[in-house]
Amino acid sequence: MPPDVVYDYSKCTGNGQCVQVCPVQILELTADKRWCKAIDGYVDNKEAAEAFHSQVEGKKDAVPIKIHNAMSACLGCAACVAACPEGAINIIPEFAEGQSAVEKIQ
Ligand code: SF4
Ligand code: SF4
Repeated sequence: MPPDVVYDYSKCTGNGQCVQVCPVQILELTADKRWCKAIDGYVDNKEAAEAFHSQVEGKKDAVPIKIHNAMSACLGCAACVAACPEGAINIIPEFAEGQSAVEKIQ
């Protein structure tokens, strides 16, 4: 299974630091620069991209969910994790079988 790039939208401030350091450029900021996200075309589990668009995009305040993106193009280098000052991104080496795209934060 590919790496799981996990974004925590209760923590992301949209500073863009993860986007800048990714060596394969598979992350981006939204047009309004509020959030970072996995680029849709690189997300293998399309429900993750859909969840971002329906549950996070357009919102201004923190959203209490994590989104799990299965990304074959991810090198697993964790440069994004090291760059994020908010602890808002995590890399799990392998996307777990049956992992749902959205994880609610209690
Ligand atoms: S682990 Fe590396 S390749 Fe994967 S999204 Fe983060 S910076 Fe990019
Ligand atoms: S570095 Fe962290 S806080 Fe900044 S855009 Fe990326 S995930 Fe969000």
